[in-house]
Amino acid sequence: MKLLSIVVPCYNEQEVLPMFYEEITRVTDQMKKDFPELDFEFLFINDGSKDRTLEIFHELADKDSRVRYISFSRNFGKESGMYAGLQNAKGDFVVVMDADLQHPPAFLPEMYSYVRNGEYDCATTRRTSRKGESKIRSWFAMKFYKIMNKISQTEIVDGAQDFRFMTRQMVDSILEMTEYNRFSKGIFSWVGFKVKYMPYENVERPAGTTSWSFWGLFKYSLEGIMAFSTAPLALSIFLAILTGCASLVMYILAIVGACAEVFNVPLLLIIATVLLVGAFNLGCTGILGMYLGKTYMEVKKRPVYIVGETEETYRQRKAAKN
Ligand code: UDP
Ligand code: MG
Repeated sequence: MKLLSIVVPCYNEQEVLPMFYEEITRVTDQMKKDFPELDFEFLFINDGSKDRTLEIFHELADKDSRVRYISFSRNFGKESGMYAGLQNAKGDFVVVMDADLQHPPAFLPEMYSYVRNGEYDCATTRRTSRKGESKIRSWFAMKFYKIMNKISQTEIVDGAQDFRFMTRQMVDSILEMTEYNRFSKGIFSWVGFKVKYMPYENVERPAGTTSWSFWGLFKYSLEGIMAFSTAPLALSIFLAILTGCASLVMYILAIVGACAEVFNVPLLLIIATVLLVGAFNLGCTGILGMYLGKTYMEVKKRPVYIVGETEETYRQRKAAKN
């Protein structure tokens, strides 16, 4: 028998969770018929939800023994949720997917067909269009992938998602990356392996709301760039050469001007130059500071998440009560 772990990070998903559970059990029941060698476990992660998400986990754990869950002590972010899921999944295969049905469970049989015979190590979906997304957002997303792929050796495919069906081998490789600042899109790609991209049209959430604001996405993209590229650090060297050359030209002009009394560099120009160089300086220090901050967090070696309760402690508690 082969075990497939279905890892689902959830943050305030009370509206869609029942729908998700219904759909995932429908798909897995069918898969059980088509691939009798498969067993399933559902590993839900409660990422510090403030709504009824955890209670729904209790209800699911009561009625379905395949349901496992990990509940965090507070909100740690989706990256931590995925990490906890991968760390605790017991499966020979692991799939990570969103709870909001934007990663349609109907893809699972096809994904499994690519991975089961070792033809691929990972099957994932790839958005072919950005329909239903604002123009500005699409533009920034496009630019992000362009910049990212230019300055980093880790290629990140435009439209790639966190909906990943992976072999145990790939999951173990991902777990070897124990960094605190986790950027999964990069991590998935960094570990390599043979990946099957399955094109698909984006679907809207049937209920609930996305927890990503534009600002949140922007910060996340900076996170990605810093996690997988040190090119911004080299920017200061480029600027140093640029300003160095410019100042050399000015010195020459000033000397020539003083000798021939042709130029009289006005005060404003001097101030502007000083300000410009100062701005470059501050900017570079800022970039340096951002990386230093990341390094500082990394050096602390803090856990990526903290467990509040799991389905095991819940079941024990219930058994002790009865
Ligand atoms: N999520 C999470 N922790 C967070 C934010 C989101 O576990 O802090 C989960 C969320 O419940 C969902 C998935 O991550 O299952 C994707 O979130 P969302 O739908 O808000 O993002 P989007 O699809 O808009 O990228
Ligand atoms: Mg979503």
